[in-house]
Amino acid sequence: QDKQVLLRISGLKVAYGGIQAVKGVTLEVREGELVSLIGANGAGKTTTLKAVTGIQPIADGDVQYLGKSLKGQGAWDLAKQGLVMIPEGRGTFTRMTITENLQMGAYTRNDREIDDDIEKVFGIFPRLKERRAQLAGTMSGGEQQMLAMGRALMARPKVLLLDEPSMGLSPIMVDKIFEVVADIHKQGVTMLLVEQNASRALAIADRGYVMESGEVTMTGNGRALLDDPKVRAAYLGE
Ligand code: ATP
Repeated sequence: QDKQVLLRISGLKVAYGGIQAVKGVTLEVREGELVSLIGANGAGKTTTLKAVTGIQPIADGDVQYLGKSLKGQGAWDLAKQGLVMIPEGRGTFTRMTITENLQMGAYTRNDREIDDDIEKVFGIFPRLKERRAQLAGTMSGGEQQMLAMGRALMARPKVLLLDEPSMGLSPIMVDKIFEVVADIHKQGVTMLLVEQNASRALAIADRGYVMESGEVTMTGNGRALLDDPKVRAAYLGE
């Protein structure tokens, strides 16, 4: 527990009109950690990530990155500082090619290593290399998820926020995506992973948080949560 806290969410509240979707969430992500946030549909996981990146306004509480409040900062500022989100639904630029999408991922950079990094992404995802000239919109769901992850890596993230990367994918593709998430983490990228696939997300996590109806109801290390009878009953179908 001596690692620096990179991301700290404290007492976060977010509302849609009169509906409180997030009701005072507190969580932290330390340097080098992979933290999984799990919970049922509508628990408020995505909303929490949206508040971190400023897509959804914060009603109360705060989000701090590297010890500084993120309130009032835009997506570009965050990416420039290494806080990068891969949204649910991937958000690739459908009318651009794979290579162009990857170049877009480096939009906050002005160094000369962008082409080298594209080659590194192709090393992680050979499929993207094969399809480099193809329009992103014509790729399968799994390929688009790979592209979204590759594009995020192009920003050289310090902290990656990943929203439901396994959503809608075939079992083989789910395996591949979790494998890559674990690999990226091993290479030193800190991650906050939001997932409905609780067993897979907790299996690769250092720590996890369980969200129910807008609140964090349990937290602990990934293995301990995976073995917890309450978690198993509620999220692992046992
Ligand atoms: P899922 O896994 O299904 O995406 P989640 O845990 O990510 O679930 P959220 O998407 O954060 O949950 O939704 C939390 C609550 O806020 C839900 O009750 C949802 O209906 C509501 N909500 C989400 N987005 C909006 C919106 N744009 N307008 C109104 N209510 C919303």
